[in-house]
Amino acid sequence: MLYQRSSQLFIEAEQVIPGGVNSPVRAFKAVGGTPIFAKSAKGAYVYDEDGNRFVDYINSWGPMVLGHAFAPVVDAVIEKAKLGTSFGMPTELETQIAALAVSMVPGIDKIRFVNSGTEACMSAIRLARGFTKKDKIIKFAGCYHGHSDSFLIQAGSGAVTFGAPNSPGVTVGTAKDTLLASYNDLDNVKALIEVNKNEIAAIIVEPVAGNMGCVPPMNGFLEGLRKLCTENEILLIFDEVMTGFRLAKGGVQELYKVTADIVCFGKVIGGGLPVGAFAARAEIMNQLAPLGPVYQAGTLSGNPLAMAAGLAMLKALNEDENVFKRLEEKTAYLEAGIHKVLQNNNVVYIINRVGSMISVHFDATPVVDFKTAAKGDNATFRRFFHGLLAEGIYIAPSAYETWFITDALTYEDLDFTINAIDKVSKTF
Ligand SMILES: *Cc1c(COP(=O)(O)O)cnc(C)c1O
Repeated sequence: MLYQRSSQLFIEAEQVIPGGVNSPVRAFKAVGGTPIFAKSAKGAYVYDEDGNRFVDYINSWGPMVLGHAFAPVVDAVIEKAKLGTSFGMPTELETQIAALAVSMVPGIDKIRFVNSGTEACMSAIRLARGFTKKDKIIKFAGCYHGHSDSFLIQAGSGAVTFGAPNSPGVTVGTAKDTLLASYNDLDNVKALIEVNKNEIAAIIVEPVAGNMGCVPPMNGFLEGLRKLCTENEILLIFDEVMTGFRLAKGGVQELYKVTADIVCFGKVIGGGLPVGAFAARAEIMNQLAPLGPVYQAGTLSGNPLAMAAGLAMLKALNEDENVFKRLEEKTAYLEAGIHKVLQNNNVVYIINRVGSMISVHFDATPVVDFKTAAKGDNATFRRFFHGLLAEGIYIAPSAYETWFITDALTYEDLDFTINAIDKVSKTF
């Protein structure tokens, strides 16, 4: 494949945009080469500026669970745009999508819309702190909750006492209120709670982790967190930005039958437009301004184009009784196919999967947390990534990412992918 125009566009972008990209995950830093510039996309495929076609396993990092340029979403946005793109006044549409989301997700009475998953998580911990009148939070190494200061905290053995900033610009003062635990390790969480008695406002977790590859919660992990939170008057926050409206209508809460106190959304909920949201029972949500003292706001929050896209997406997911089953079946088919060819080619690997989230790790150790996720062989991943790209398959340019499966994928697309993996893994 030729990437002449992408390469030229990247050179031009680098002059005026740091690293040539508006979000670092789009750069090819981890895999080498220059990013591919998208021109258009339809269904399961994305087309680049050089005219290459790729079977897309990124799908805008999640939102396109029903495929690119999904007609009901596109039509809704076009129709709304003709009526004005933003008002800074409430609209009926906001109540419609809120009511639908509340009806789909267990345990929530009210929801507030923001513009990104980052904003949702950032606002959720402020709300939790305001509600509990406590300052500290526990997060898990390898879980991503957006780029607000409190969450950019690195793992380290000093975590039991003080977090350490891992991005310059995050102050030590902020970092000390974020305690780090190891995913799937309840004893670790217990110890943190012990040492910080009555100081912890919330535990925030990706209930199925998707930002260190896909890492499922072990049996009892989510239930254990629920119990510890209830016993210690800590709010449990499920960051369902990736899993929400992807793994089930009601997300992980429904799938694993564990209820959170606050739930964060993003990605699918916006149908491809910039939307995030956070939700909880009324008692908690009523703490928010203008009802309560916890301030949170946004000039473009609840934007009519974004809400129209989100509503069309949620409606489609709500009305299709089989969509989550189909997504699961397609992903299971892909998983079985990859197992077969990687085994045949004597590749050392682990596959993790929950529903339509799947990741391939090039190491023999089961991937259960950040430490084990980090053990993967990056050199092999690089060859895997570029090999698949050359075959017309676009997966995330990082070994720490989940593949995002879309319902637009056909079984022919999946076979095409499995054959490509067979071919590429023969060269390892
Ligand atoms: C993507 C993601 C976020 C951040 O959402 P943005 O819209 O990129 O700000 C937060 N949490 C999880 C679990 C995510 O996957």
